[in-house]
Amino acid sequence: GQAIAVLTSGGDSQGMNATLRAIVRCGLYAGAKVFFIREGYQGMIDGGANIEEANSLSVSKIIHKGGTIIGSARCNEFRERSGRLKAAKNLVGNGITNLIVIGGDGSLTGANLFKKEWSSLLEELIRKGEIFSIENTKYSCLSVVGIVGSIDNDFCQTDMTIGTDSALHRIIESIDAIVETASSHQRTFILEVMGRHCGYLALVAGLATEADFIFIPECPPEGDWQLKMCEKLSSHRKAGQRLNIVIVSEGSIDRNGNAITAEMIKNIIVENLNQDTRITVLGHVQRGGRPSAFDRVIGCRMGAEAVMTLTEADPEKIPCVICLEGNQLVRRPLIDCVKDTQAIQKVLNERNWEKVVRLRGDRFGP
Ligand code: ATP
Repeated sequence: GQAIAVLTSGGDSQGMNATLRAIVRCGLYAGAKVFFIREGYQGMIDGGANIEEANSLSVSKIIHKGGTIIGSARCNEFRERSGRLKAAKNLVGNGITNLIVIGGDGSLTGANLFKKEWSSLLEELIRKGEIFSIENTKYSCLSVVGIVGSIDNDFCQTDMTIGTDSALHRIIESIDAIVETASSHQRTFILEVMGRHCGYLALVAGLATEADFIFIPECPPEGDWQLKMCEKLSSHRKAGQRLNIVIVSEGSIDRNGNAITAEMIKNIIVENLNQDTRITVLGHVQRGGRPSAFDRVIGCRMGAEAVMTLTEADPEKIPCVICLEGNQLVRRPLIDCVKDTQAIQKVLNERNWEKVVRLRGDRFGP
């Protein structure tokens, strides 16, 4: 049978464990051996006990847990060819020819590069006498499949990434709690939420909690936004509202590309409206806690689809990402997904807002 290895890399997200569970169970069902690689790419480079064969029991009772039971890490060594050479040696040493990477765009970029270099890495290992040439035939092909685990929903070509829905649940639960205390004391709260350069969490949380004002990186406020925001907040108060909620995505910027921070917003509100204003930075509670039903289920589905991709006949597959389109899973070329995702970053840096909204359009809707 084949040997499939799986690792989780970059920031963790709820639902990664459900994904691991499906990969192990479906891999075994398909007659493959399944290996965990612990601590992301670092474990692939360090080898040894970091690469461990999994069995059906290894993934029992984990579907409801946040985080990732096999650990995740950021690993600078994997960015260097010398690191990737060590990683290749460890895969060959364990008889692994299939790799599933669960992570964000950085992790999947690394996976794509590794796949591209694979035969030249093998040649170098043979030249250095680290592996025998006979192994080259058996290991000449490495199949790579990516699955996007990220709370930010910042990856192109998939409608949802694993963890986003749970993070949203955590955010709206926190905002609901804050709304009660804010209302009692007639306060204004500014909530900073995660998302890096993607405003999805802030926007959707804002819609779901009746926020008064939302800041997202993709749509910086125009003109005299400070005044407009204050007018809006005070008009809601005049209409009888006992509180105001402002949500700011951590990557928010103004039209010149300068950061808009919670502290800045607070100062504007206090100076202009003299409201009792507090800041709550939700931070890592957004990543923690139990995965939602949605994340457990897409984790299961994407994990199973990744295994099916690897165990189907065609041996020399181009690396793909398992994406969600509507309610359908589709396999998309990894390189295209990564390119599109990185293009958004470029357009954000160029401050081409119309194009940003167009590129993100699939997820924000009209
Ligand atoms: P998140 O969205 O949660 O930040 P991510 O996968 O984008 O997840 P990164 O820190 O960008 O997180 O990448 C994780 C790891 O992937 C890096 O520490 C590195 O080991 C590897 N990696 C990222 N980019 C590259 C690259 N260009 N070449 C090789 N490896 C890379």
